Amino acid sequence: MVERMLQFVRLPQQTPEKRPASQRREDFGEIYQDFDKPRAAAQASRCSQCGVPFCQVHCPLSNNIPDWLKLTTEGRLEEAYEISSATNNFPEICGRICPQDRLCEGNCVIEKGFDSVTIGAVERYITDTAFDNGWVKPIVPRQERTQSVGIIGAGPGGLAAAEMLRRDGYQVHVYDRYDRVGGLLVYGIPSFKLEKEIVIRRWKLLEEGGIVFHLGVDIGGAVSFESLRAQHDAVLIATGVYKSREIGGPGAGLDGIEPALDYLTAANRQGLGDSVPLYENGALNAHGKHVVVIGGGDTAMDCVRTAVRQGAASVKCLYRRDKANMPGSMREVKNAEEEGVEFVWLAAPEAFLGDDRVNAVRASRMHLGLPDASGRQSVEAIEGSHFNLPADLVIKALGFDPEDVPTMFNEKSLAVSRWGTLKIDHKSFMTSVPGVFAAGDIVRGASLVVWAIKDGRDAAAQIALYMRQNATMPVAAE
Ligand SMILES: Cc1cc2nc3c(=O)[nH]c(=O)nc-3n(C[C@H](O)[C@H](O)[C@H](O)COP(=O)(O)OP(=O)(O)OC[C@H]3O[C@@H](n4cnc5c(N)ncnc54)[C@H](O)[C@@H]3O)c2cc1C
Ligand code: SF4
Repeated sequence: MVERMLQFVRLPQQTPEKRPASQRREDFGEIYQDFDKPRAAAQASRCSQCGVPFCQVHCPLSNNIPDWLKLTTEGRLEEAYEISSATNNFPEICGRICPQDRLCEGNCVIEKGFDSVTIGAVERYITDTAFDNGWVKPIVPRQERTQSVGIIGAGPGGLAAAEMLRRDGYQVHVYDRYDRVGGLLVYGIPSFKLEKEIVIRRWKLLEEGGIVFHLGVDIGGAVSFESLRAQHDAVLIATGVYKSREIGGPGAGLDGIEPALDYLTAANRQGLGDSVPLYENGALNAHGKHVVVIGGGDTAMDCVRTAVRQGAASVKCLYRRDKANMPGSMREVKNAEEEGVEFVWLAAPEAFLGDDRVNAVRASRMHLGLPDASGRQSVEAIEGSHFNLPADLVIKALGFDPEDVPTMFNEKSLAVSRWGTLKIDHKSFMTSVPGVFAAGDIVRGASLVVWAIKDGRDAAAQIALYMRQNATMPVAAE
């Protein structure tokens, strides 16, 4: 057992091994191997146990990172799991897909010149070990309460809230228009970042804990929002953001130009063994095609890497700024480069060429101008710099906006911001409609899983408070 901390001075950073790119390209399995016990303990021992842990400050969940690193070093993994799961409902998921370089690890303060502690990988290891050893148990509330909550959306925000409220003994019903639990964890994020079994394992555990899932139920469609409100003492809206940003220009309506989420959902469904006609007929399958993905965020990275695995003839990512200004995580850009994706920096589409189907993207070179009020450099096209890229499949990965929730739910009094996100009172998490709360991407706009978990937890605490204040029935028998 490694007993001492501060080992960063003699032990270099070592992430769990990445499978070779040539192998990764051939399947959809996660790219990082598991830590073994000695390696996890050794890497955790690099932590300097500093007085003000900036990793914790910059983790949206304020995870008690130094403590669980120390316990991992000492081989006390069950205790490490208890501490880690006290602040995070899904640590094994965050350990896999948080952009740690921008959050905890990016703020690790071990001496300059030494690489950060591999916090995410250790977090993942602790909870995977806990599952392997049966330490992760379904919820058993100390007392059952008669009041019920209806949660719309089984993504990480809705699920974190559901778990917290169920722990408190409330009757929790989660409604989702998808046929599986997980939201973007299942249908957006590809398996090479997060294998689906990890999400399914949580789904089953939540179900065993008494949370009732109503899947394939579109609120605002087959079931009205009004009827849902009538059935529950409180409602949480955690519906995420799903309206793809569009692209204009000549030829933008040609066949073969597809939204990123349609493409990724088809790939995820195919991986789960579903029948996907648009994948089978080739419309949403990159096999043998020249693929151009437009955008520079994490969704674009997921698309290019999916296309590589589907056996595309070539995969290019077209981004109007340069590498240093990409919004996506550098770790993902590096992974994509290793897997053979070609980045065309400082280039933006002007037109899409073809008769009925797209066969090329006409792009122009861009240059970066002066920073605007937000500090971001403006982009301007360089005159006469056009060039064509062959493309049989163009994927638009330009981001997401909220759907029109007040119209979708036929509830005009739901106030929205100018971006269409739901307005809440940031203390109570309540929307403009009494007893209706909101959390996750539908409030923040497209964000991160860890923020959705944080919002779900905070909203649950406020819903519980509201329910206590509005309880009309006594607490049921213990
Ligand atoms: C391609 C892609 C890759 C990403 N990669 C990462 C990553 O690597 N790391 C990271 O931290 N974040 C990533 N994100 C962002 C992350 O997935 C989201 O921030 C997070 O899932 C938001 O959680 P949520 O619970 O608010 O919403 P969602 O996960 O979107 O869940 C919302 C749920 O609500 C359901 N719903 C919506 N409307 C209705 C309705 N009317 N009736 C019933 N159900 C409804 C939806 O079906 C869905 O299941 C990625 C996003 C995308 C699109
Ligand atoms: S939840 Fe995310 S940010 Fe927080 S410690 Fe884990 S990996 Fe880091």
